[in-house]
Amino acid sequence: MDCRLHRPEAQQYEQLCDLLNVEDCYIAAEAGPDGAVLHDDTRFDAVVRNLTIIKKAKHPAVMALVAHYDCAGHPVEDAQHDTDVVSAAQKLSEAVYGEPDRVIPVIAYPSTEDGATWRLKQLHQNQSAVAAE
Ligand SMILES: [Zn+2]
Repeated sequence: MDCRLHRPEAQQYEQLCDLLNVEDCYIAAEAGPDGAVLHDDTRFDAVVRNLTIIKKAKHPAVMALVAHYDCAGHPVEDAQHDTDVVSAAQKLSEAVYGEPDRVIPVIAYPSTEDGATWRLKQLHQNQSAVAAE
């Protein structure tokens, strides 16, 4: 949801398509998505409904949950975001697909180079980044 990630110079859409190896992405915005999925049943249910609609209508090759550091919607330390986005992606995967590992956990973090560009890194169960700048 954060406007900093949606500015053209942030290049989030292009980076997300590249990370997921797809031509286009459907984006469903949610404030503090990792926190919402883990700690707010009402918002979790709404996210699942949205993703289920997209899944049934568009049969996406892949789904990702993208959270970001410095998030007003889920104000926790960076390391906690890494942990939470992995747990939230697993919870969503079970809810939407009925099996684990179908929703890819991704975190956005500001580039140290210019502060305007946000980078993405994919996380795994051990929370180690596999794709950084
Ligand atoms: Zn946020």
